[in-house]
Amino acid sequence: MQRSENFFAHLGMKNTQGRNHLLDVLEKTEIPLTAEDIYLKLKEKSIEINLSTVYRILDLFVAKGIVSKSTSSISNKSQFELAKKEHSHHLVCIQCKKTLTLAGCPLKCYEKKLKNKTQYDITGHKLEIFGYCPDCKFFANKQEE
Ligand SMILES: [Zn+2]
Ligand SMILES: [Zn+2]
Repeated sequence: MQRSENFFAHLGMKNTQGRNHLLDVLEKTEIPLTAEDIYLKLKEKSIEINLSTVYRILDLFVAKGIVSKSTSSISNKSQFELAKKEHSHHLVCIQCKKTLTLAGCPLKCYEKKLKNKTQYDITGHKLEIFGYCPDCKFFANKQEE
């Protein structure tokens, strides 16, 4: 997908190569990435960039609302993904960290009920599901024996 030339201009940002490359990486992945993940992916493509630059661009993207930042409950690291209108949840393997993005949100109805019950204006929620993926399941069961 080709971004319009005005993409950054609309947001009052300069269109730099680093910003474009970083956005490319985020657009091509389904799962949240840490700054190091992004840095390594850029390196794989032989793109010259410093880790500190990656952090700086990510902070800027977060400030502009292009990217959303969260903290992985497993590694406790900051992770980044494109901010989407439709929010989603992740299923994470606690062994190999393989992450699936789950379609839809199971909490929408619950939020409505909660709002009626508590009179709170609900603005959002976080939900992450953990487990062992098929590859790690066997290994995990072995350890418990
Ligand atoms: Zn796994
Ligand atoms: Zn949800």
